[in-house]
This record gives sequence, structure tokens and C-alpha cells, in this order.
Amino acid sequence: MSQNAFTNAMAQLEKAVKILNLDENIFEQLKQPQRILTVSIPVKMDSGKIKTFTGYRVQYNNARGPFKGGIRYHWNVNEDEVKALAFWMTMKCATVGIPLGGGKGGVIVNPKELSSGELERLSRGYVRALYKYVGSDQDVPAPDVYTTPQIMGWMLDEFEKMTGGHAPGFITGKPLSVGGSEGRGFSTAQGGVYALEQAVQKKGLNPQGTTVAIQGFGNAGSHMARILNKKGYKIVAVSDSKGGVYNQDGIDPAKAEEIKKGGGMLGCYCLGSVCSLDKMPKDGKCRFVSNEELLELDVDVLVPAALENQITVDNAEKIKAKIIAELANGPTTPEADEILFKKGVLLVPDILTNAGGVTVSYFEQVQNSYNYYWTENDVLEQLKKIMEDSFEAVWQRKEKYNVDMRTAAFVLAVERVAQAMKDRGRV
Ligand code: NAD
Repeated sequence: MSQNAFTNAMAQLEKAVKILNLDENIFEQLKQPQRILTVSIPVKMDSGKIKTFTGYRVQYNNARGPFKGGIRYHWNVNEDEVKALAFWMTMKCATVGIPLGGGKGGVIVNPKELSSGELERLSRGYVRALYKYVGSDQDVPAPDVYTTPQIMGWMLDEFEKMTGGHAPGFITGKPLSVGGSEGRGFSTAQGGVYALEQAVQKKGLNPQGTTVAIQGFGNAGSHMARILNKKGYKIVAVSDSKGGVYNQDGIDPAKAEEIKKGGGMLGCYCLGSVCSLDKMPKDGKCRFVSNEELLELDVDVLVPAALENQITVDNAEKIKAKIIAELANGPTTPEADEILFKKGVLLVPDILTNAGGVTVSYFEQVQNSYNYYWTENDVLEQLKKIMEDSFEAVWQRKEKYNVDMRTAAFVLAVERVAQAMKDRGRV
């Protein structure tokens, strides 16, 4: 069993390559990114001392358009993780048919330990180190884990200082005031909801009262909870890095959000304002759950919305959900995929489920280049169509090749990337 995200990504690619009997000269080029950039970012800390952080930008494949992908701030960021995420971006953009390639960035940092000023200096430093290699027609960054619209705003400002003039299309996920798109803030979750609704239909479930557990309560997970709750799904468990809560009677996402905003633990949901780990009920209708327990709950739908390698050979057999909608990137290992497929779980893969984020990022860039802005309704209408059409295209390949949805999505994506590589004469 491998916990290396890039090894897992290559195993996923290989499955699709075999099915498609792909030209080996294309396969060879898809095994490595086109470019890996590693930079040192010196940051003056509030203490006056300089601390140097390591940053990455991986530009995986640009056959279908400029490299595109978020920037992650996390202490576990490493080159292989960024390579995997950049590869998945390539596959994701191709799955939903938007004219973009794949890239990803990351900085090894615990952003929770930095003051706002330090975070701003780090973000500006990242752009100063990389500005020559990015831009609207080269490589377009966006938010990912622990990066925010505010960080995108600082990065845009720094990029424009370095290059001169306005260049809003350099980065997406920006605040609305500097060229962001309506709907971008919750687009990853909204796209995930559109994909999940298709899966729920295929499984013949009634959305009303369908139970859902969500691991990760950040941008992706918390909006998913909110939207599903509004549609009548019953959110019974949510968690973040400190663990989570299970409530048999359902969780109000707005209340969970309030607890988090107040700096509390989600487990406090059961206890009201009084909260300490030793007071947490361990059983009963409302109780604290660990991230591991959450995955194995008896629910209809499981939504991993945190990090990689959560569903592995160690717990796949114990998963009870009928549908898994992967909002996180890479939450399931290839070995776990096989177990889940045999169990009949309908897994809607990351490169389809969470593609709403990059799709609205693409809309954001389109709006930036026209300097004309759409309403939220315009955005959601276009997003819904792309997500539903893409789900159907993946479903057809699943049926045609009798494979799981992930392999089917990879087949579709590799077909499209390979076609662009051929048409460019890269073989
Ligand atoms: P975020 O920083 O907003 O939230 C991350 C959440 O995960 C937080 O609630 C955090 O507490 C939780 N978390 C961290 N470590 C955890 C752990 N070990 N166990 C459980 N929870 C943990 O990040 P996000 O943007 O919501 O990203 C979440 C996932 O969605 C990532 O895999 C990311 O790559 C993917 N994704 C995000 C976007 C986007 O537009 N934001 C788009 C596509 C995919």
C-alpha cells in the first residue's frame, strides 16, 4: 500500500492507459511534469528575524491550455504531493472539458502559526520568486488548502507590481472587488452537489433524508454541508483537523460554522458552549467522532473533503456508505478503490466531483479577459450544465468498459489530453 500521492496517481493513470491502449510516447510524457520549480522564500517575521520557507510550483501538462491549479499552504507539502495534485489538475480540466492544462503549487508552512502580516509577506514572496513563470497565458494559480481569497488578492497585487499594469487573469479565487467571480467561493462544493445529485439518481435514492457524513469543514466541506442541508439531505457528521461530531438527528451547518468561527471544536456541537474533550459524550445520539470513525459511519453518502489517503486498504472494507463523493483531492488509494468497487460502492472521483472549483475559476478568467462580469445565476447555470454533461460522459465510459467511475474519468481525460498532444505534434 502506498501513501505516496504521486505513486497512487501514476497507478490510476496506468489503468486508463491500458484500457485505451494508449500510444506509449504519450504515456511516457504523462509520467512526469513538464517543469518543477522549487524556490526559497525568505520572510521577515514579526520578531525581525528572517525565516526561509520552501515553495513549489509544478507545471504538469499544458497541451490543452495554460497550466492551472491552486496553491496549498501546509506543513506536509512535498514535491511528490504537488506533482500528484498537478497531475490530477491536468486530468480534472480535461474531464470537464475546459481549455486548461494542469499545475499546482505549495509552500511548506503551518499558516496557523503565522501572523496576518507574516502570511502576507510569505504570499508576496512566493509570487516574487515565481512571477516569470506564471500569468494568464502561462500558468494560473488559485486557492487550495489553507489559502484564501485574501491571499489571492495579495498575490495579484504583487504580480502586478512585478509586471506592471492590470493582470486579473493571473490568478483566480480572488475577492470580488479585484475581479473575482460570483459563486467562486462555493463553486467546488456546488459542483460536487451537482455531481452527487446525478449519483443519487443513479442509485435510486431519495435526497430527502439521505444521510451524509463530511470529513473536512473548510471551503469545500462546509459549503457542501450548507447546500446539501438546504436541499433536504440530512448531514449527520462533520469534522475538521481536530475531529468531529456525529448527531443522529442531523447537524445544522450554520451552527457548526458558528462554533468554528468562535475558535471552538466541532465536537462541542453536542455540548453547547461548555466544551472540553473529557466532557464529550462517547456514545448516544450526539457524540464526538474522530476523523477515522467518521469515515466508517453508517451513512448513505460519505464526502471526504480534507486531505489525501484517508480511505485506504485498512478501512475500505469497513466503509458503509453507498456513495462516496470525493471533494478532496486523492482521498482514496488505488487498493481501496478496488475494494470499494467490489463492494458496489458508487465512488464519484475527485477529478469529477471537485471540478466545480476550477470550472468557475475558468469562468473567472473568461470574465477577466472580457472585463465583463456575470451574475451568480449565469455562473451556476453554466456550471450545472458542465457538471451534468461531464458526469454523463464519465458514466458512459464506466458502462462501456465495465470499470469504476475513477477509471472511467481517467479514460475520458487521457483521451482528451492525448488528442491535444497528438494535434500539437508532441508524439
Ligand atoms: P480548507 O483549507 O478551506 O479546509 C481544509 C479543511 O480540512 C479544514 O476544515 C481542516 O480543519 C480540515 N483538515 C485538515 N486536516 C485534516 C485531517 N487530517 N482530517 C480531517 N480534516 C482535516 O481547504 P479546502 O479548499 O476546503 O480543500 C479541501 C480539499 O478540497 C483539498 O483536498 C483540496 O485540494 C480540495 N479542493 C479544494 C478546492 C477549492 O476550490 N478550495 C477545489 C478542488 C479541490
